[in-house]
Amino acid sequence: MRTDPGTCARKQRYASEEAALAVAQRAPFPLRPYRCDLCRAWHLTGRTKGMKLPAFELARRRAARQRDG
Ligand SMILES: [Zn+2]
Repeated sequence: MRTDPGTCARKQRYASEEAALAVAQRAPFPLRPYRCDLCRAWHLTGRTKGMKLPAFELARRRAARQRDG
């Protein structure tokens, strides 16, 4: 993903995808980790359109489907 320098500077950085995912999992809204071209760290974005679902999100949806029939 292309990142503009202002966005990069403003955003929280995570050392690994796992660290970013751990935060995304606790967030009350959808967030996706992505690797930043500028700082080579991970950021989170709320722009989830077109991005693949993380494992925890897939598991949640599977669980919801099973619960709701
Ligand atoms: Zn960055």
